[in-house]
Amino acid sequence: MTPREVHIIGAGPSGLTAALTLARNGVKTVVFEKAHDAGARFIGDYQGLENWSTEEDVLDFLASLGVAVNFRCVPYTAGTFYGPASDRFDVRAARPWFYLVERGVGPESLDQGLKRQALEAGAEIRFGRKVTHAEAERVIVATGPRAADAIARGVVFETSHPDACFGFLDDRLAPRAYAYLLIQAGRATLATCLYDDFRHAQTYFERALTTIRSVVDFDVRSPQTFGGYINFDVRPSWTRGDRLYFVGERAGFQDALWGFGLRYAMLSGFLAAHAILEDEDYDALCRQRIVPRIETSLANRLLFSQLGNHGYLWVLRRLAGRDVTASLRRHYEPSRPKRLLYEIARRQIHPHLRETACRQESCACLWCEHGKRVHTAAMDRCVADVTTPPSGLNA
Ligand SMILES: Cc1cc2nc3c(=O)[nH]c(=O)nc-3n(C[C@H](O)[C@H](O)[C@H](O)COP(=O)(O)OP(=O)(O)OC[C@H]3O[C@@H](n4cnc5c(N)ncnc54)[C@H](O)[C@@H]3O)c2cc1C
Repeated sequence: MTPREVHIIGAGPSGLTAALTLARNGVKTVVFEKAHDAGARFIGDYQGLENWSTEEDVLDFLASLGVAVNFRCVPYTAGTFYGPASDRFDVRAARPWFYLVERGVGPESLDQGLKRQALEAGAEIRFGRKVTHAEAERVIVATGPRAADAIARGVVFETSHPDACFGFLDDRLAPRAYAYLLIQAGRATLATCLYDDFRHAQTYFERALTTIRSVVDFDVRSPQTFGGYINFDVRPSWTRGDRLYFVGERAGFQDALWGFGLRYAMLSGFLAAHAILEDEDYDALCRQRIVPRIETSLANRLLFSQLGNHGYLWVLRRLAGRDVTASLRRHYEPSRPKRLLYEIARRQIHPHLRETACRQESCACLWCEHGKRVHTAAMDRCVADVTTPPSGLNA
């Protein structure tokens, strides 16, 4: 039987997608969010809504969840990668390989777009409410990552560089991961991601800045630094009793290969709401629609982590000149060999840092920082450096 009231903890993409689905179907929906607004965990940084993991275009996928595109959502059909020796590889795609979205509290952000849709549907959102216990008949727990399998260090700034997208594969900048520079409408996000050696994140960030500036000409104004982390996991169940439903990264739903978790966040929020509305088995829905893809991404992570700089060069040579969406698509398709690899991967991959005492409150986690901007002296030095354009560049 459909409950009269559902509580949702966390107003991220997973919680808000659940909220708009439930409220549209006439269920009294209350979202509790510890921050002052939706998206406060981010600072206007750009992310990618990947468009390669399914045949279906991600915009059709969003439509199938009932999510309207009322936020910045810009298709990218080309991009440039650089390998470890700064060799350049241009890639193209017949259909967008990702849509750029903005995260944060700005009016065009994904978070604010989802918030508007949830409110229009009739959901209530209570900001500044950190919840540790919920009493409602049904509770959706959408509180985001709990541990760090990978971390990111980045900077957001204004620039006069035209829209572009650059990726960098080099373990000296981003161990077992990648660095990126996304530019759209005069704003840019530059970041490095690390799946290893978190304690030297600052060094990798500085190296990434230096390397990226040596191959891409861009000016920097009003920089703001940020840090973040992601968490992936495959569990036997995403419910507790018949009352608690875990969604998004709190459930471990994340692309283990590269951290493109947005689609899983929104899908799982939708599935939890659907299960509540239709009295269906949420665990079974997750096993059917999410788990095979998460397992494949873990198998891909195992493969990718073996590549090293020589392997990245090999991968980039194969990608260059081909349709990047179609090439990536093949690797994201669940298959029997990937399932076997997953069995090995799941025994090998564990979060690097897990602080059991961490409640994202008054903790000293290296990776957590409670969603605040990273502000160390070293980071300030680094930003001072990035704001000083090399000679010959416009300020
Ligand atoms: C730097 C960075 C770059 C990324 N880039 C990409 C990308 O390009 N593409 C992509 O697909 N994914 C990307 N991701 C991953 C993506 O951001 C996440 O997968 C997605 O935000 C997860 O959504 P969620 O709703 O599960 O959790 P979150 O977005 O983390 O939302 C959880 C919400 O719950 C709130 N909350 C937590 N605890 C409580 C509590 N006790 N009470 C009340 N509220 C609480 C938090 O304040 C937060 O608002 C990136 C992540 C990071 C950190």
